[in-house]
Amino acid sequence: MSAPAPVLIGDMTWTDYVARLKSDPVIILPVGSLEQHGPHSPLATDTIIPIEIGKAVAARIGALVAPAIAYGYKSMPRTGGGNHFPGTTSLDGDTLTRLTRDILTEFARHGARRVLVLDSHYENEMFLIEGIDLALRDLRAWGVEGLKIMKARYFEFVSEATLSKVFPDGFPGWPLEHAGVMTTSVLLHLRPHLIHMDRVPNQPPIHYPPYDVFPVDPRSGTQTGILASAAAATAEKGALLFQEFVEGIAKAATAEFALANRGA
Ligand SMILES: [Zn+2]
Repeated sequence: MSAPAPVLIGDMTWTDYVARLKSDPVIILPVGSLEQHGPHSPLATDTIIPIEIGKAVAARIGALVAPAIAYGYKSMPRTGGGNHFPGTTSLDGDTLTRLTRDILTEFARHGARRVLVLDSHYENEMFLIEGIDLALRDLRAWGVEGLKIMKARYFEFVSEATLSKVFPDGFPGWPLEHAGVMTTSVLLHLRPHLIHMDRVPNQPPIHYPPYDVFPVDPRSGTQTGILASAAAATAEKGALLFQEFVEGIAKAATAEFALANRGA
């Protein structure tokens, strides 16, 4: 019996990769960060989650998963605690834009025409969009046609019904969900050995004013790295969320890329 075909591009030989590209698969590019996620969660939280979602989506839609961009744009106080924490290892916006642009144009050079950029770090948003836009502009100028890119943030695929199950006392909003109940639950499901529930800070949600001040004063804002407590995180909530992310993204990719529906 032969082994299943690899889903990770990095595990493939170049000849197998070329052969797979002939069937015009979607390439999934996970994008995350190396960023503090409180005293209880790993620095790679934002990278592990889109890689695992990417692998599960790939299994459903016959996609390939590229090595992740494992560093992100600078952590902001109101969405990630701030860039001053040790361990938070960030890129300038221009670097992230260029990385994205280079990787996408390389995929296109190989013959890929369908790419799903799967982002998980709040601060990456506009730099990824800029990288996508510039890659498409480059390709047009080079006469390369037909590349379609879908960009998604997994947490936007959660339903109201699941939100009220995961946050029975009220949803604090995605910006405050940095190392909170959502990411901690998903990692309790995916990598329980990397989560230290005994170290979850017991603190109320941080209330930031509706503006930013630069330079950032490390004495203001969160001192633990979390913005809302993860005390209510469980592996069961994580499994529910993960399933919903995977199903929602697979369905959206199937529709956007007009893939034959393989069923769940
Ligand atoms: Zn982040």
